[in-house]
Amino acid sequence: MSEYDVDLFVIGAGSGGVRAARIAAGHGARVAIAEEFRIGGTCVIRGCVPKKLLVYASRFPDAFEDAEGFGWTLPQAPQFSWPALIAAKDREIARLSGLYEANLERSNVAVHQQRAVIDGPHGVRLADGSRITAGAIVIAVGGYPVTMEFPGFELAISSNDALDLADLPERIVVQGGGYIAVEFASVFAALGVETTLIHRGGKVLRGFDEDLRDDVQEAMARRGVKFLMNDHVVEIEQTGAGKLVRTNCGATLEAGEVMMAIGRRPLTAGLGLESVGVEPDHKGAIAVDEYSRTSAPSIYAIGDVTNRMNLTPIAIREGHALADTLFGGRPTSIDYANVPTAVFTTPEIGTVGLSEEQARESGRAIDIYKTRFRPMKATLSGAEGRMLMKLVVDAASDRVLGVHILGEDAAEMVQVAAIAVKMGATKADFDATVALHPTASEELVTLRTKWTGA
Ligand SMILES: Cc1cc2nc3c(=O)[nH]c(=O)nc-3n(C[C@H](O)[C@H](O)[C@H](O)COP(=O)(O)OP(=O)(O)OC[C@H]3O[C@@H](n4cnc5c(N)ncnc54)[C@H](O)[C@@H]3O)c2cc1C
Repeated sequence: MSEYDVDLFVIGAGSGGVRAARIAAGHGARVAIAEEFRIGGTCVIRGCVPKKLLVYASRFPDAFEDAEGFGWTLPQAPQFSWPALIAAKDREIARLSGLYEANLERSNVAVHQQRAVIDGPHGVRLADGSRITAGAIVIAVGGYPVTMEFPGFELAISSNDALDLADLPERIVVQGGGYIAVEFASVFAALGVETTLIHRGGKVLRGFDEDLRDDVQEAMARRGVKFLMNDHVVEIEQTGAGKLVRTNCGATLEAGEVMMAIGRRPLTAGLGLESVGVEPDHKGAIAVDEYSRTSAPSIYAIGDVTNRMNLTPIAIREGHALADTLFGGRPTSIDYANVPTAVFTTPEIGTVGLSEEQARESGRAIDIYKTRFRPMKATLSGAEGRMLMKLVVDAASDRVLGVHILGEDAAEMVQVAAIAVKMGATKADFDATVALHPTASEELVTLRTKWTGA
C-alpha cells in the first residue's frame, strides 16, 4: 500500500485534467480531482462548446436570406430570442458537465467540488481545510481572461460574461485581435448588434497566414463589423443608457456592452507553487519538459497552464500522455506539428501546417497554390461571399506544408486535409486524388497553377 492517500491528485477538471484522471484511473491508479467551478472546464462551460452554439445561431440569418434564391418564401420575418438561445445553451452545457462528472465517477475518480492548492511536494489543501497526500500532483488549472488597468475597466465584460448576457445590446465594442475577439464580433454582428472591433495591431489574427487575415477582415467588414485598428480603449464611462468608450486615438463610441478579449493567462496565482519551488514565468505559465514534468519531481502540469498550445485537443492529449507515462508504463510525449485549428468567424477559417510566411521564414523554397472563388451555393442565393483555398508546398520535396481555407465549412475540410498533411502528402498526392464533385473542397485537388503573385 502506498504511503499516500492517492497516487494522483489532479487540480482542475477541464479538458486536460479530466482526461489525465480518467486514463490514470483506467491504468489502476487511485485518483482524485478537484474543481472549483464546474466540471468540464473552459471548453465545455465557457469556451469552445457554448461559443460554437452561438456561432450556429448566428448563421441562421444567412440561411433565411439564402433560402429565397432557392424558391423558399418565409411566411413572416423570422424572430430571434437571445434569452431562449442562452437558456438552450445552458441546458446543453449542464448536460455535458453532468456527463463529465458521471464519467469521472464511473472511472472511480474521487471528485472534490472545491478549490485545491498545492501544499508541499505530495500535499494538496482543499478549500474545506482538509489535506490529501498524493504520489504525484497534476496542475491542470487552465487560464483566465487578461485584465487591464484603465478607468472603467470593471465595466467591461469578458468572453465568460458574453456567453451569459441577459440581453443582447444594440451596440457592442469588442477589443482584441485574436480568435476569441473576432469570433464574438462575428457572432454579435450576425445577430444584428452594431459591432465595432478595436485592435492595437493593424490586422487581426496575428500568426495566421496573411491571406486568411486579409480576407477574413475584409469579409467581416463587408458583413457589418466596423474595425478601429492601431487603437485601444483607454476609458469606459457608465452613462444612463449604456457605456461611453474613449480610445487612445481620440474616438468616442457609445455601446451597450464593451467586451475585452485581449488574451488569456495561466491561472497560477495563489496555487501554492512556492511550496514546491516551481516558479511560473512572467505570464504565469509553468515550464514543463516533453513529459509535462515541472522542475519539482512529483509535480506535473498540462493544458493551458503550460501555455504550449492552448487548444482543447492538445490539453486532452497532454493529459492522456501524462497518465500513460506515469501509470501505463509507456512514456509518451506529444507531437505539436501540424495541429489543425479553426476560427469560427463567418466566414470561418480552417488551417493546418505552415503559413506562407512561416514557410518562407524557415528558409525553404516554396510554391503557393491558391484560388478565390464564389461557391456554388452563392450562385442562386446571390450571397457575396467568396472562398479562399491555399496550399503551401515545399518546392524541393513537393510536400504540402500548409492548407489554409476561408469559407463555409472550412474547419470541417481542414480536419480531414490535416490527415494528409500529417502523413506527409505531396502536392502530387493531392493532384492524384480524384475530385469529389460538386463540392467546394474539390478545389484542393484541382489546383494546377502555381501562384505567381499576379
Ligand atoms: C471563448 C473561448 C473559446 C475557445 N474556443 C476553442 C475552440 O474553438 N477550440 C479549442 O480547441 N479550444 C478553444 N478554447 C481553448 C480551450 O477552452 C482551452 O484550451 C482548454 O479548455 C484548456 O484545457 P485545460 O484543461 O488546460 O484547462 P480548462 O479547461 O480551463 O480547465 C481548468 C479547470 O481548472 C479549474 N481550476 C482552476 N484553478 C483551480 C483550483 N485551484 N482548484 C480547483 N479547480 C481549479 C477551473 O475552474 C477549470 O474548470 C477556447 C477558449 C475560450 C476561452
